[in-house]
Amino acid sequence: MIDLALKVDVDTYQGLRDGVPRLLDCLARRGVAASFYVSMGPDNSGKAIRRLVTRKGFLKKMLRSNAVRLYGLRTALYGTLLPAPAIASSFPETLRRTVAEGHELGIHGHDHVYWHDYAATLPERDVAAEVDRALSEFQRILGVAPEGFAAPGWQCGEGSLAALERGPFRYHSSTRGESPYRPRAGRVQGRLPELPTTLPTVDELLGEGLGEERLFEVYCDAIGKRPLDVLTVHAEVEGGPYADFFSRLLDRLADRVRFRRVGDVARELTADELPVCDVIQDTRPGRAGTVSCQSQTPAAR
Ligand SMILES: [Zn+2]
Repeated sequence: MIDLALKVDVDTYQGLRDGVPRLLDCLARRGVAASFYVSMGPDNSGKAIRRLVTRKGFLKKMLRSNAVRLYGLRTALYGTLLPAPAIASSFPETLRRTVAEGHELGIHGHDHVYWHDYAATLPERDVAAEVDRALSEFQRILGVAPEGFAAPGWQCGEGSLAALERGPFRYHSSTRGESPYRPRAGRVQGRLPELPTTLPTVDELLGEGLGEERLFEVYCDAIGKRPLDVLTVHAEVEGGPYADFFSRLLDRLADRVRFRRVGDVARELTADELPVCDVIQDTRPGRAGTVSCQSQTPAAR
């Protein structure tokens, strides 16, 4: 049986308010446990609108993927015309429910937009301050430290890798790639396992212009070619307008895969036995800008 680790990114206030409870219901009905990574700080989604006017590819993606439908108009204005609401501290009960129902809870940055735009290039000190803010919020609400960190927007650089290695984390899932590895960025060599997202996301496939029926085909074809796949879903997408699609996808995959929590897979890995791979910036079909990816040539140790 093939392992499929389910990684749920929660980027926004609306995602935690509406998307997470819907996903929890969907997973509970199927007896599936997943890993949730939450942006612990303010929802500044409106600032991402800056990218509308500054990056050509983003406008194209917005129009094709119907981002306002996915994220809602209010979310599109948070941090600009509307004040940025706090994400995690607005819904502590939802976070505690997630853990109580057997899911893993990790961190998806503090301010998603800030991390997405700057973390790959910031020095360690600045990223560490952002990670510390997220960690103290997590600990204040949950009373424990998280094991996993997932970088917003798959943005990972020398400074962020160094900052994450200092934290309490036991693994990260911050890049795109093929299989678990130990990441190297610039002069920083990570000691923790990195479990990259191996599959395209729904918003990327929509960004490529695929319809819903084609999404099923893409996932059913792609899943099972590797011993371990990591699928990233979004509370705002698969917990929003694509909730029905996601439920049906889980049902279709149920007899082909074993659903896993990312942290459980990470615990079975021995970091020293993993290949060391450079983290490189690359593009993904259907996604604007670049994301951090596992280099396909293992680095010399
Ligand atoms: Zn995200």
